[in-house]
Amino acid sequence: MQTLSQKMQSEIASTISKQEALEILQGKTNFLETIQKANVERQKYFSNKVRIHILDNIKNGHCPEDCGYCAQRKNANSGIENYSLKPSEEIFEDAKKAKENGAYRFCVVTAGTGPNDKYVDSLAFTIERISKELGLKVCLSAGLLDSTKAEKFKAAGLDRYNHNLNTSEQHYGEICTTHTFKDRLNTLEAVNGAEIGICSGIIVGMGETLSDIVEVAFTLKRLNVISIPINFFIPVAGHAIKNPNLLNPELCLRILSVFRLVNPDSEIRIGAGREGHLRSLQSLGLYVANSLFVSGYLNVMGDDAKETIQMILDTGFVPETDGDFSLEDFMNEHLYSKENIEAMYKYKKN
Ligand code: SF4
Repeated sequence: MQTLSQKMQSEIASTISKQEALEILQGKTNFLETIQKANVERQKYFSNKVRIHILDNIKNGHCPEDCGYCAQRKNANSGIENYSLKPSEEIFEDAKKAKENGAYRFCVVTAGTGPNDKYVDSLAFTIERISKELGLKVCLSAGLLDSTKAEKFKAAGLDRYNHNLNTSEQHYGEICTTHTFKDRLNTLEAVNGAEIGICSGIIVGMGETLSDIVEVAFTLKRLNVISIPINFFIPVAGHAIKNPNLLNPELCLRILSVFRLVNPDSEIRIGAGREGHLRSLQSLGLYVANSLFVSGYLNVMGDDAKETIQMILDTGFVPETDGDFSLEDFMNEHLYSKENIEAMYKYKKN
């Protein structure tokens, strides 16, 4: 089996150099021309489709790791609700609901360093059932993996595994001390070895430099990662990030553009924090990225399916969903119903 770095590079080369990527982030390029340039690549590989991902947090808290951005890390004191692995039936029901809400992919996430054998068997059973009975694409994010566990998930029909690099190798020690950047690369190698698609991205705003961000974009390119979530750091209660960067919508959109231009044919996802950091310019992000999360994140709320699908349609894009989802029914039920229109307008108290 080819190693990750031997794996045949996507024929699609990056359209910019590291220096050009840095200049985009430094604001040395015309903003709208940069968005336009990224949009050309976006249209080429994903036309006007937007993939909707829905997260299911199936095990929360009590994690022995110390990832500084995470509300679930040891000693986080974040006040989140801790719970152990959800029963298989409950996860299956969550998948059904996600499908009804137009999910293109159902992203199952567990807290913890990595799954033990009992968890691997239970998760493999549930993943197999969801993909067979609901025909829904599943992505799993369960921490550090070795090749034996990766092979078990492959056999269960898992086609994508999420394991973010989160930041650059040189900055990694600033956000986590209980495992290393190399540990993360080893997990991606194991997933690649099992021929499972890799989803791996970044969290920007954790005190990194613009060069760190450029490094991550090109590292993911070298690893031929097919799905890249771009998360914007949410300063959750109890986080341990020393000097969070101040982000603004323009910088966030330039970062999305850099990842698109460096990884033209990869799925670029507007991840956690879009509501708070892109604010009124979220829809502009759809000209660069071709997927996003709806219905919130692991422990933080986010825009729901209704608001997000409304934004996608208003911006001239269409949700890319799996076969059964009827956009028309969803629109009639959730968007254009009389109650919804009325709810939009509240009478002023004169
Ligand atoms: S990101 Fe994952 S591994 Fe890190 S502290 Fe949070 S739950 Fe644990």
